[in-house]
Amino acid sequence: MYQIIDGKKISQEIRDELREKAAALKEQGKTFTLAVIQVGNDPASSVYVNNKKNACAYVGIESLVYQRKEDTSQEELLELIGELNENPQVGGILVQLPLPEHIDSDRVLMAISPDKDVDGFHPVNVGNVSIGRPGFVSCTPAGVIQLLKRSGIAIEGKECVVLGRSNIVGKPMAMLLLRENGTVTVCHSRTKNLKEITRRADILVVAVGKPKFVTADYVKEGAVVIDVGIHRNADNKLCGDVDFDSVAPHTSAITPVPGGVGPMTVAMLMYNCVEGRSV
Ligand code: NAP
Repeated sequence: MYQIIDGKKISQEIRDELREKAAALKEQGKTFTLAVIQVGNDPASSVYVNNKKNACAYVGIESLVYQRKEDTSQEELLELIGELNENPQVGGILVQLPLPEHIDSDRVLMAISPDKDVDGFHPVNVGNVSIGRPGFVSCTPAGVIQLLKRSGIAIEGKECVVLGRSNIVGKPMAMLLLRENGTVTVCHSRTKNLKEITRRADILVVAVGKPKFVTADYVKEGAVVIDVGIHRNADNKLCGDVDFDSVAPHTSAITPVPGGVGPMTVAMLMYNCVEGRSV
């Protein structure tokens, strides 16, 4: 029988721990304010921004939401980030992605001061994490590490395969597994003999961005499978990058979608806000 890794429960545990920590810090006069910038009215982005606002309220940190119109220029956005960088009341700045097409997302993300980059996307933070220095860690991969640790799954010495090499999931995921002393292989769209490699994994993290891409023939018997993917099908039901029903019986532990990695991302954003820069 396989274990279902419960991201809802683990993310709630983390939020509760952070709530206590934030309350203790408040008593010492230390508070934190997160600035969240949303450009346009993309409904999914609005849901994410609201989730972040609610999480801040639960944990006990301030949130300021800057709602800007779809036609906001890149210069206006950079100006706002510049002001927030200078504002000593603001501890963290987050720009909700995706941005409208006329805005260069990379330029915007790089304008955020690395000291306030709670999403961990700035090259300075990415670099710091890679070389083992303190820095904000990208929230989704940090959440995967917490899911593994808090489910009693050891990473050290394990064959870890990451399927996907995006800057926000695959690459930082590989760095974090390496930091935990896993033996890490990263696969991508040019990888040859993909199934041969994924079948070597003791821990397989899937961030391929394709619904139900990973089927049972990609997975070694007894492996741990972490599904980062999130997709909504025609019936408005959520599914991941892993075909859960066919894969789960071959695993020792697996994350469901929804209720696996998804809830961890906001919990780790709260972690970055309360605990600050961490390795
Ligand atoms: P992405 O930027 O589209 O990256 C997908 C990666 O998969 C790329 O590295 C790509 O390779 C690789 N890939 C695509 N097709 C492949 C194939 N046939 N064989 C092998 N590799 C292939 O996606 P992402 O931003 O990392 O996100 C991945 C998934 O996670 C998405 O479903 C996304 O919605 C979800 N997500 C969830 C959360 C959360 O909070 N739960 C957060 C972020 C993302 P190349 O580099 O060669 O193109």
